[in-house]
Amino acid sequence: MPETQKIDTASPEVVRQINRRVVLNLIRTRQPISRADLARLSGMQRSTISLIVEELLNEKWLVEGDAVPLPRGRRPTFLRLNENRVVIGIDLRPTELTIALADINGEFLSKDVIPTPQDPKAALEAIKSRVEKIISLWPRKSIQGIGLSLPGRVHPETGTLTFAPNLKWVGEDLKAPLAAAFGLPVELENAANNCVLASLWFDQPAENFVVLTVSEGIGCGVLVNGRLARGVNGMAGEFGHVALNPDGPKCGCGNDGCWEVYGSNRAALRYYAESNPQAARLTFPDLLRLADQDDTQAAAALDKMAHHLGLGIRMIVTALAPEKIVVIGDLTRSWSRFGQRIEAVLAARTLPGGHTPQILPAHQDGLARLRGTVALVLQRHFSA
Ligand SMILES: [Zn+2]
Repeated sequence: MPETQKIDTASPEVVRQINRRVVLNLIRTRQPISRADLARLSGMQRSTISLIVEELLNEKWLVEGDAVPLPRGRRPTFLRLNENRVVIGIDLRPTELTIALADINGEFLSKDVIPTPQDPKAALEAIKSRVEKIISLWPRKSIQGIGLSLPGRVHPETGTLTFAPNLKWVGEDLKAPLAAAFGLPVELENAANNCVLASLWFDQPAENFVVLTVSEGIGCGVLVNGRLARGVNGMAGEFGHVALNPDGPKCGCGNDGCWEVYGSNRAALRYYAESNPQAARLTFPDLLRLADQDDTQAAAALDKMAHHLGLGIRMIVTALAPEKIVVIGDLTRSWSRFGQRIEAVLAARTLPGGHTPQILPAHQDGLARLRGTVALVLQRHFSA
């Protein structure tokens, strides 16, 4: 059935719901905005806009600002989303756990960072006690739900972790215990997918792009033709676990020679330890600092990591032909070191007719994952 016919035969209730979401999204992206501009941008009648806005004001999705005097005596009032609607965002990483409160516009009201308890039950208890604290500290806010960003893949139906090689909590259900404890909607998503959502929701939209999170492992979120690629069991985009060398070192996933054992932060630390066996155990930021202080072995380890990142990115470019690839992680602090090397590897072997995408470092990486949790929880009210 052609699209237009589908819309013609839609019930009045479906049309009303779609119009409501169009208006909500216009307000979200253009706020503060007047009713006249909503009518102009949506192509809806002024009377339709007035009814929808009235409903959204009654439901406290919106607030109305003061009348603004304009030339020729018109005094429109401007509408914006109600900042009292908030989301609890949780960014669970193998070493660090962040529990934050953000408003509907992705502005953070509080943020608490603790080391990740290695036992999943202990981690759940730690999360619960922080969420309880947030609820008691912000009694006037209307909490819309809890969004979790995870270093792994989540089964779309059960919400259990199906694949988390750097966390090793496979089969853990984080969703049901949190939903039961707080009576709030709980949404879970892979960290890289969350960054794709954050970018779609808060930044310039693009139809085809990839987010690469480089840390203990390499995560990948893929937007194809404007849609997040999820695949069967939510497993799409695991480029980090494609073998670059089947005879290579063991990976956390159980296979050998995956891209992430060559291009992750851990890989760079291994390269450094190999050339410098007496060196004390370092963190990745230590390695970046040493390279900046002209430690040639540290610089060589980072260069080897960058080269291998380039090799894997070439695989993504060949498979998906994205407009841009956004790279997230500590390595963006030394982007002059990484960016050039990656671009050189890409430029060396492009396909005839192929397109070389922009490779962009994203700063404030923790923010992208947390803002993604806001989009994750709110999207069911906004998506058409
Ligand atoms: Zn692997």
